[in-house]
This record gives sequence, C-alpha cells and structure tokens, in this order.
Amino acid sequence: MPEIQDISTDELQSNPEWGFSFSFNPESSDNLHLFCGPHKIEGAACPNCSKPLLRLVSLTATDLRLNVDPSKINAVHLLYCWTCSIPNGVFSYRLRPNGSVDLLNSPAPWDGAIDPRGPFDRYIGGPGGPYDGYNGRFPPRTIGLVPLSDLEQRNQKGGTFRQHAVP
Ligand SMILES: [Zn+2]
Repeated sequence: MPEIQDISTDELQSNPEWGFSFSFNPESSDNLHLFCGPHKIEGAACPNCSKPLLRLVSLTATDLRLNVDPSKINAVHLLYCWTCSIPNGVFSYRLRPNGSVDLLNSPAPWDGAIDPRGPFDRYIGGPGGPYDGYNGRFPPRTIGLVPLSDLEQRNQKGGTFRQHAVP
C-alpha cells in the first residue's frame, strides 16, 4: 500500500479550491445533486463485497462551481464501502465519459486483523460496518451546495493537511 504521508502539498490541492457544504433543503433554482440512495452506476461494485458501492454523492457536472467540463462527463460520483478493507487502504477509480466507473486500486480483502495504526481501537469498517446497526442503506436526497465560510474553508484546509501529515 502506498504511504499516504508521501502525498505532496501540490497533490493535496483540491479542485475547486473552495469547499462546499451540503444543503438538504436546496432552493429550486440551485444546481441540484444527489446524496446517497440506490444507483445503477456501471462498474461501481465493491470488489471485496460483491455489492454496489455506497454512493455518497453524485455531483452534477453542469454546476459550473465544480470546474468540471459537462461535455466530458455528466456527474462526479463519490463512491465508498464501509463493510470491507476499503477504509484502510488506497481506493481509487476513474470516471468514464459514459457515466460508468473503472476501479483502479482497492486494498486486499480484510483478513480479520486489527490495524494498530488506525485511529480507533478496532479495524475501521469490516463486515459489520463503521458502527453498530450500520446497514449501508441511506435514502436518496436531492441536495444543493453551499460555499464554505472563510473560517470553514481555513479549518477544512488545516484538517486535510493534518490528516495526511502523520509523522
Ligand atoms: Zn466492500
């Protein structure tokens, strides 16, 4: 597994640079995005669990604030899995112009071992998920994006750096 600490500051630069929070009560005039819910995104199956990856959010590319070219891709899908080893390693995928995804990297399936480097006293994720009662199903919601305040943006950048700068 590549060491997360090796990521340079340039690689940590987000695009767009300014962050957003979710509005679960968007105005009808907002650019709308989709939070969770079932999906049929081709290629978006967990390689360890043989089930659809959890869709955290599908961001609509026509929202110009996201700096995505909607002529090349219609949505940016943020996908994850909390019931296997994915939270404990490098997980990446490529978004395809036709809306499908290609999985590029995922950690080896969980072998039941506890990772002592984890921030918790047990393996993050695994078959039971991140907390008691987790079922991986969240109802779909239409959301809007609200730009972070100056303070929120500064805190977000600091949090990202600290997360990846573990000695
Ligand atoms: Zn999984």
